[in-house]
Amino acid sequence: MYCNKCGCKFHKNGKTKNGVQKYVCSGCKSTISETTNTVIYHSKLSFEVWRNIIDNLLDGFSLRRIAEENNISLLTSFRIRHKVLFALENFINNIILSGEIQSDEKYFTINLKGTKPNNMPRYSKKRTSTSSPYRGISHHKICVVSSIDENDNLLLKITGLGRCTTQMLEDSLGYKLNNAKSINADSASAYQGFCENHNLKLQTVPSGFHSNGRINIAEINGVHSQLETWLSKFRGVSTRHLQEYLN
Ligand SMILES: [Zn+2]
Repeated sequence: MYCNKCGCKFHKNGKTKNGVQKYVCSGCKSTISETTNTVIYHSKLSFEVWRNIIDNLLDGFSLRRIAEENNISLLTSFRIRHKVLFALENFINNIILSGEIQSDEKYFTINLKGTKPNNMPRYSKKRTSTSSPYRGISHHKICVVSSIDENDNLLLKITGLGRCTTQMLEDSLGYKLNNAKSINADSASAYQGFCENHNLKLQTVPSGFHSNGRINIAEINGVHSQLETWLSKFRGVSTRHLQEYLN
């Protein structure tokens, strides 16, 4: 480990009360610890407790139950969840996709759980005609674009309402590519424009299939089925918080 201020080597420098290793720079004498710049930096709770709380969050426990199980206050439980969600958001925002990418969309019904009655969105009275461009997908459905690259970098992003368009792909994936070569997708036409814009080879699998024998989207379909199983234990996820769950 080398100091990012002066480039000199770090030496071990004792441990904190919680057993976290500390280091001091042999050049500029600045100090860091194992947890510097991590989600548990400055926390008085042990790593074991953090790990348990993160498990509890993944299992969908309420803040109150997390507080009781880990012998912490409700406020601490609230703050930790916030820190974890913030760290995940940062992590997701830094993901870059490269090489061969598989991509697919998943549509979610709007869920207003936890929304106060006066904050409910109002639906427009105007109904779409039968010539609607949404063809089978209600424009009151939330479109999530999921993409995974050949190194298993995975991105799940809410892109908007209704059927996925090239613009929605641009907004969610357009700035996430680096050295991308190709996209495997189902026959959704939104990808044609997107691949042209980014000079990518588009390989399509007929809608409803995982593979046409040569090209497959099995990985991303697998992610979707795991996601479904995991989300089902929350008995309805509020649309307000959907992106946090996806992260
Ligand atoms: Zn230094």
